[in-house]
Amino acid sequence: QYPPILPAAKKAAWLGVMGGGQLGRMFAQAAQAMGYKVVVLEPSRDCPAGQVAERMIDAGYSEGAALAELAAQCKAVTTEFENVPADSMEYLGTRTFVAPNAHCVSIAQDRIAEKRFFVESAPLSGVMPAPHKVIASNDDIDAIEDQLLPGILKTVRMGYDGKGQVRVRTRDDVRAAFAEMGQVTCLLEKMLPLAYEVSVLTARGADGSSVVYPIAENVHRDGILFTTTVPGPNVSAECAQKAQDAARAIVQQLGYVGVLCIEFFVLTDGSLVVNEMAPRPHNSGHYTIDACVTSQFAQQVRAMARLPLGDVRQHSPAVMLNILGDVWFEEGADKPREPAWDLVLALPGANLHLYGKDDPRRGRKMGHVTFVAPTLAEAQAQLNAACAILH
Ligand code: ADP
Ligand code: MG
Repeated sequence: QYPPILPAAKKAAWLGVMGGGQLGRMFAQAAQAMGYKVVVLEPSRDCPAGQVAERMIDAGYSEGAALAELAAQCKAVTTEFENVPADSMEYLGTRTFVAPNAHCVSIAQDRIAEKRFFVESAPLSGVMPAPHKVIASNDDIDAIEDQLLPGILKTVRMGYDGKGQVRVRTRDDVRAAFAEMGQVTCLLEKMLPLAYEVSVLTARGADGSSVVYPIAENVHRDGILFTTTVPGPNVSAECAQKAQDAARAIVQQLGYVGVLCIEFFVLTDGSLVVNEMAPRPHNSGHYTIDACVTSQFAQQVRAMARLPLGDVRQHSPAVMLNILGDVWFEEGADKPREPAWDLVLALPGANLHLYGKDDPRRGRKMGHVTFVAPTLAEAQAQLNAACAILH
């Protein structure tokens, strides 16, 4: 058993993060609030996390010398994106404490390994993934069973925010989509009748203790998370219990250390299906910053520093609205203008988080705003008011 990594006053302990996006930025802010110093390894210079970290290593995620430097400086290293090269996490793990480890990351970044893990852990988790089939060749397409169609063809690696996905009705559609994607290995998933989508954020410490946050209900638009509502208006107590039990079993089964978010589908017949997991804080967990005792980023710090996990209690109903680059563009305009943040912030219970990205593009995550209120109805009313201002 290793001792905890304490934030020391004189010579602050350094924590490292692979990746410089907004999740790395909010991680850095949480770590700094507790007295740690943060170093970010990221190849693009003016990145959201690099703007706030004490140090940035400007290098590719697989550069040996840069990884050695990161490991030498840090008492512990984590990641802010699931597509971090697992080999890099493996290498870092030979030199410093790494959470989550390369094994867990390699499962979460490969849809085949992820599905296999979900199927194998189903006896313990009580949930199954969608029916699916690996598509690696045109022969695989000929062998698709009728019951898998219509479906969604997803690239096995590097997909996010609905990217690398094509909806297919027939085997010919699959053939065309597979060719379109350059015949990279894909997964065909049966299209399921979704009633709504939920996610469960969990964290597990190196000592085997774990916590599970309240279940979150998510609405996506164009494949990108649009809002998260907690408590979810559609979620029954029974469904919440089932998803939280599944999350607890999954994080335990993985032997995971760190913050893990698991996405589920709730089908029209009320059944629960596990979709995917992210080995890091998650967009649907941003509400925890303003509405829970311990934010998902503070939790990430605690887990990687082998500190006691924090209280996951939610103290206010909350609704989170993602802010995409689209809101910088008025109808038909091609030049961006600054949205009326003053009007958004005039709404009761508004907490604005912008990520320091100076180039608003359509579909790009620029920030989020979370509304907290004494009742969910009030938080939802403020969110609707914000949408009217921004959209
Ligand atoms: P990503 O990595 O892009 O988040 P997901 O697998 O979560 O990929 O898919 C994105 C969205 O597409 C989901 O949130 C859901 O709305 C929809 N979706 C994905 N798989 C299915 C499915 N099997 N049936 C119905 N809808 C799906
Ligand atoms: Mg997803």
